[in-house]
Amino acid sequence: MGATMETKMENDPKYIVVHHSAAVSPDPQFAAIEKWHAARGFPISSLGFHVGYHVVIEKDGELVRAREDLERDTDALGHNFDSLSVCLVGNFDAYKPTPAQVATLATLLSEWCNKYALGPDDIFPHRHFNATHCYGTKLADNWAAYTFLRHEYDRLRGIIGDFDLQP
Ligand SMILES: [Zn+2]
Repeated sequence: MGATMETKMENDPKYIVVHHSAAVSPDPQFAAIEKWHAARGFPISSLGFHVGYHVVIEKDGELVRAREDLERDTDALGHNFDSLSVCLVGNFDAYKPTPAQVATLATLLSEWCNKYALGPDDIFPHRHFNATHCYGTKLADNWAAYTFLRHEYDRLRGIIGDFDLQP
């Protein structure tokens, strides 16, 4: 882990890129993605994985971290040093993510946006940057941004609901 300090400063997050794995499961799928990405020669992370995304979200909503936020990723050509990446397991050309995946994604997007001063206009499907369908044709381009906003709306409504404005 001697290179940790060095690799940690590689990434300066200005975008969030959302992917699907586009694969028929083994379920959970993280180990399979690790094998595929190792075979493609992706650089190993300080957490010990070749997985090219910062985070993978399994179908049951489990979040698995493959890279530290400020480490480079390998997910989107041209944006491996200025973005955070998350991959939802599944093929969203064929069906939609599970409610558990959506809930975990919403929490992650909220965490990242608040931590790195990002907003809904900074959240994109992979296809915004590269010639791919990723994150799947079943999901609109603004679906991930909406998922974030919906989470923030509920969170703020909860906070406002607790206000007592009686002087
Ligand atoms: Zn992708």
